[in-house]
Amino acid sequence: MIKSIKGMNDILPDDVHKWHSVEDKARYIFELYGFSEIRTPLLEQTELFARTIGEDTDIVGKEMYTFVDKNDTSVTLRPEATASVLRAVIEHSLLNQDSIQKLYSMGPMFRYERPQKGRYRQFHQINVERLGEAGPLCDAETIAMAYDLVDAIGLKNITLEVNSLGCQKCRPVFRKQLKEFLQEKRDMLCKDCSRRIETNPLRVFDCKETACQEAIKDAPRIEDHLCGACRRHFNDLLQTLDALGIPFHKAPRLVRGLDYYVRTTFEIKAEGLGTQNAVAGGGRYDGLVKALGGPDAPGVGFAFGMERAIMLMKEARPVNKGCFVVIQGGREIYRSAMVLISDMRSSGLQAQAVFEKSMKSQMKRADKLGYLVCAIIGETEVAKDMVTIRDMRTSSQVQVKRALAINKIKEMLA
Ligand code: AMP
Repeated sequence: MIKSIKGMNDILPDDVHKWHSVEDKARYIFELYGFSEIRTPLLEQTELFARTIGEDTDIVGKEMYTFVDKNDTSVTLRPEATASVLRAVIEHSLLNQDSIQKLYSMGPMFRYERPQKGRYRQFHQINVERLGEAGPLCDAETIAMAYDLVDAIGLKNITLEVNSLGCQKCRPVFRKQLKEFLQEKRDMLCKDCSRRIETNPLRVFDCKETACQEAIKDAPRIEDHLCGACRRHFNDLLQTLDALGIPFHKAPRLVRGLDYYVRTTFEIKAEGLGTQNAVAGGGRYDGLVKALGGPDAPGVGFAFGMERAIMLMKEARPVNKGCFVVIQGGREIYRSAMVLISDMRSSGLQAQAVFEKSMKSQMKRADKLGYLVCAIIGETEVAKDMVTIRDMRTSSQVQVKRALAINKIKEMLA
């Protein structure tokens, strides 16, 4: 038997309603905030990710699904969405048409990670990118939108962590101090972190190794090294979150796994997910559009992990708001019933039947699929131009004129 690839999951019909529910809520909320959807290809040139995410990140260093295509071009299955969306924005000159772009997208991402609960090799994200505004109010509103989504899905005991990573001006000063601190602790650090002291010392904050976490317990805090402008940005953000009634914690070690963040970073965690407890994360990435060859437009965004949210959703399967048509008789009766089913669908009523089964097994199927209403068509009904309508909850039945049947069923389901 051929099985799915490790870390890549099927989403089965019994669960898909949860996916629809999350997607619908995201679309509804994002459109309330004035965002529009953008869809980009799953495959991009490898260089796009190497240049944006950062060479010394786990994603680029170890986790990308990269291969050479038939044209000898190195291509990669997207490990995240920001790079692709920015590439599309630049390629289609969207910022020339409107200097503010509020975009969202949804779909699968690919990372060759070690699979475990809440961590897969193909997983799905909802992504938000907001370009053209540099201020802290924009960050606060973007975080509020992420928070609204997590709240609308009904996740419990949510915590929002916020940090500032400073800017090109203050981060190098902090980096230098951190580097000096880490050099003293080199013996305690894992091999990767030992290397990161030179290449990317902030990344050590992200390491999951207990020894590394222990080593950085007393590390300098970036918040204490922010320049005046970054400090004002951060304070303004926190005050605005307060004003919007969004509770948060400051998380001085929150650097996140991508290199492009400046100033604001944030993460939303939810209870009940074990170690992989982050459901959404993001931050500000001024400079990234320019680095990719576009205009100097600032940006902020986040990614929301669908699998983790769905794992926590208690949502029951919705009741079936359509009509199951039970048919008994010869070919003529079936054809007459199929015309009625077609009329039902034309009027927007979901309808289905199974053909050439016993009455009992048709009823059983209607029940199994959760239909609240059945329409029964047999020889008597066709002869009298009537339809028998059965309320599955009470087992009561009425006969109505065929021309009135659809409205009657809709009334019963309303
Ligand atoms: P990131 O793109 O790494 O900032 O992650 C954003 C969100 O995507 C995380 O908070 C998770 O909810 C989700 N996520 C990231 N990596 C995975 C993965 N391998 N499997 C499942 N969800 C993931």
